[in-house]
Amino acid sequence: MKEIATPTRTKEIVERYNLKAKKSLGQNFMVDAQLLGKMVDHTGLTERDGVIEVGPGIGALTEQLAKRAKKVIAYEIDQRLLPVLDDTLSSYDNVDIRHEDFLKSDLTQVFKKDFSDVDNVYAAGNLPYYVTTPILMRFLEERLPIETLTVLIQKEVGDRLAAKPSTKAYGSLSIAAQYYAETEVISAVPPQAFMPRPNVDSSIITFRIRKEKAVQVNDEAFFFKCIRASFAQRRKTLRNNLNHWLGDKERVTEALGRSEIDGARRAETLSIQEFGKLADALNS
Ligand code: SAM
Repeated sequence: MKEIATPTRTKEIVERYNLKAKKSLGQNFMVDAQLLGKMVDHTGLTERDGVIEVGPGIGALTEQLAKRAKKVIAYEIDQRLLPVLDDTLSSYDNVDIRHEDFLKSDLTQVFKKDFSDVDNVYAAGNLPYYVTTPILMRFLEERLPIETLTVLIQKEVGDRLAAKPSTKAYGSLSIAAQYYAETEVISAVPPQAFMPRPNVDSSIITFRIRKEKAVQVNDEAFFFKCIRASFAQRRKTLRNNLNHWLGDKERVTEALGRSEIDGARRAETLSIQEFGKLADALNS
């Protein structure tokens, strides 16, 4: 049988089940199996590994993952898709579909029990646009024991996640992601690769989870607050943003001096390491 991620098979499935894609749930089904194959290649997944998928839809990516992995656990919020997935993935006995909101799911048991017989765990998903950042941040901030996270997301968000200092896209989201992982944009994905077509371009991006965070800081929560405050008004200098945030010019001047950072610079020119030094200096 043809792969699910093809225009003809997807159309046939959608018609058979009389499925109307729900925009509110970010439902755009992938119809380009080659791109999905490329995506799976970049996960690093082997037949001894497990994989978590967010939002299987009608099973396009799930099928590609099931061919490669020992076990796939996929979270789908839309009940209407359960009988569809039962049918489209019936020939794969290594797929476990959970009808749950991924953001509310308890993953402790999954790692402890369900993945106790796999070598490593990976994560992947063609993510619903309306919750892309919360889903990514759940994987990263909770420090779930995964090797890589490979996702298809809106291009603009992908650019921000992977942006380097002194570029327009670089900001607090880039730093948050790169603190936990090495990010790499793998491929551009045009609207024609989906059914229905979204209004925006997309990208496949891989996060290789760092064993050690990109920088060691004394207080992580303060470090992130400092970053957000530094970017509060992008066109203002670092010193101005910090003064506005803390209301204590002396403390700011002293911390800038101690961390050897010129307060006339803009936040977008600072590396993660420099933010680490600055936050520790402000907080000591
Ligand atoms: N993986 C499929 C594909 O590539 O064709 C579908 C991807 S579609 C962009 C996103 C999927 O995520 C939809 O099936 C949607 O119902 C599901 N979804 C949306 N919010 C979710 C959530 N909070 N938890 C789990 N699944 C969710």
